[in-house]
Parts: sequence; C-alpha cells; structure tokens
Amino acid sequence: MCHNIIDGRWHTPCGHFIAISTHRQDCQRPNCVFSRRHVHLIGCTSRSCIRLMDLPVRNPIRISPTSCADCTIRTTLQLMRS
Ligand SMILES: [Zn+2]
Ligand SMILES: [Zn+2]
Ligand SMILES: [Zn+2]
Repeated sequence: MCHNIIDGRWHTPCGHFIAISTHRQDCQRPNCVFSRRHVHLIGCTSRSCIRLMDLPVRNPIRISPTSCADCTIRTTLQLMRS
C-alpha cells in the first residue's frame, strides 16, 4: 500500500516531531488507486483495487538537541510564573 512519508525535525528533549514536508511513497502496484502504476486511470470501479493508504511514516531528517518552539515557550512561561 502507498503511504505518506513525513520528513521533519525531531526534538529529542521533548520528543516532539515537527513536520517539514510530506511526500508519497508509491507501492507501484497496478491495483492500488494511489499508485502511478494503477491501471484504471479515471473512474476506477474495480472491487479488487486498494483504496486505502497505509499509516504515514515519520522520517526525522533533522535531529534537534533542543526542545521545539512550543515547549520552549511553555517552559519560559513556567519560569516566569514561578
Ligand atoms: Zn499503493
Ligand atoms: Zn482500479
Ligand atoms: Zn516539544
């Protein structure tokens, strides 16, 4: 099955993943409606065709040693409050 690959930055201290770009991984199957090899180009009515995409996969292209922007703001606010 086709699935989306989400490229992004992974912030190790808080464990958050910030998406930068998304692209599709083609499964190259002729019976998958999302594939470029899909045999029914327009108006596919075949019951044997796959109409579901697999869960997206996270691909950390950058690993950051600092917290993400949201978490940085949150900790700053907490420090200001205390
Ligand atoms: Zn596919
Ligand atoms: Zn089809
Ligand atoms: Zn975070």
